Amino acid sequence: MSFKSISELLNGLTQKEFSSVELTRDYLKRIQQYNAELNCFITIAEDQAVEAAETADKRRETGAAGLLEGIPVAHKDLFCTEGTLTSCASNMLSNFIPPYESTVTRRFLEAGAVCLGKTNMDEFAMGSSNENSHFGPVRNPWDSTRVPGGSSGGSAAAVAAGLCAAATGTDTGGSIRQPAAFCGITGLKPTYGRISRLGMIAFASSLDQAGPMARSAEDCALLLQVMAGHDPMDSTSAQQAVDQYSHNLGSELKGLTIGLPKEYYNEGLDPTIGQALQEAIKTYESLGATIKEVSLPHTSLSVPAYYVIAPAEASANLARFDGVRYGKRCDSPADLDDLYMRTRAEGFGAEVQRRILIGTYVLSAGYFDAYYRQAQKIRRLIKNDFVEAFGQVDLLLCPTTPDCAFPLGSKSADPVQMYLEDIFTIPTSLAGLPALALPCGQANGLPIGLQLIGNYFQEARLLNAGHQYQQRTDWHLQHPTLG
Ligand code: GLN
Repeated sequence: MSFKSISELLNGLTQKEFSSVELTRDYLKRIQQYNAELNCFITIAEDQAVEAAETADKRRETGAAGLLEGIPVAHKDLFCTEGTLTSCASNMLSNFIPPYESTVTRRFLEAGAVCLGKTNMDEFAMGSSNENSHFGPVRNPWDSTRVPGGSSGGSAAAVAAGLCAAATGTDTGGSIRQPAAFCGITGLKPTYGRISRLGMIAFASSLDQAGPMARSAEDCALLLQVMAGHDPMDSTSAQQAVDQYSHNLGSELKGLTIGLPKEYYNEGLDPTIGQALQEAIKTYESLGATIKEVSLPHTSLSVPAYYVIAPAEASANLARFDGVRYGKRCDSPADLDDLYMRTRAEGFGAEVQRRILIGTYVLSAGYFDAYYRQAQKIRRLIKNDFVEAFGQVDLLLCPTTPDCAFPLGSKSADPVQMYLEDIFTIPTSLAGLPALALPCGQANGLPIGLQLIGNYFQEARLLNAGHQYQQRTDWHLQHPTLG
């Protein structure tokens, strides 16, 4: 039951093969069994989950079932959940119980989903390995000596290990796609503004975007249907009408032109990943797509630009954690300065402090023009590269990550090495474009991720292309065997 797709589970629930309570208890049992080792969950909401499952079973009985009625999911621990700890994996918020519900989690509740708990992540979503969590690292279910990717590593590992049917994640520079690739699942980063950010604890507001993490493109389509749409409470959420994602999955790919950005197929790419991508390209050709090389000439500037813009926004967003309004406060402060300084020194981990320092520096009067303004100009050039490419092709196909899941501890001492993990995901984030990560092979038993990038608001086309690929291949059906 634990590795079934959402549509299979919905089918089982409608056919009364099992109830939501049974399904929920089944996942909770697996969480009990495997979470000590994998550390996917910060909070396990056992009682609330069973209660929600009972309500879901009743609603189904009365014919009032929502789109995800009775489906057990998990939420990244930066979505505010009313009455349930929302820590952002930080000591700073390790006692924060939100008084309100984020739009994303509220929509899941309205659709009838059961929340099993809140998943582990890199502190304030800063990281690519899930080693920056106040609650300890998450382990990759394919090989527990390796990282699951980050920052939505708890969500990715939980889906991969069959501890929930699906999960939410957020992606600022790759945090849905990179862990999806490392854990062999499917994850979608939608167009910036497609999903409301209300109640999502902010990292870099011009980049942050929520999205689904699941076993297949088909499941992601269903989840996106629930998550997407305008929210009057978030002024950056898009007014654009929401497509019927699940209805469009069956379209043929004949006539589709797929671009291969040549800057993504360089020496930095692990040859085994390159090989797996060539196979995927052949599959798309056999599905009727035309392949064409394109160029995104400013790709190499994306990581440096991101690591100016994202920390700049983070330093502003994280200024609110001052020991007065939210979360932790240091013990017996001597005066106001001491209160601010000790609260922030004790509350934030090393990576978060590094980002605040970088961000404050690049925004300071003497350096604003030299760094921040330059980075914004580069951001525009990167966006223009994509606009140019989408004048010639319908989708782009490239790797999600330059390598597979790496051993715990192997990159944590070298921030630049770690930042380069996101070289293939950051450009799309800076441009605000949607991208789908899906498994396309394995190297030494570790999953390899393919990335499809679409034009603005073309999530339906992306999910269709992902689904068609998954009809021909079975990489998305593989799952780790847990000890
Ligand atoms: N790894 C990138 C970072 O640390 C991206 C994180 C994210 O997407 N939240 O900033």
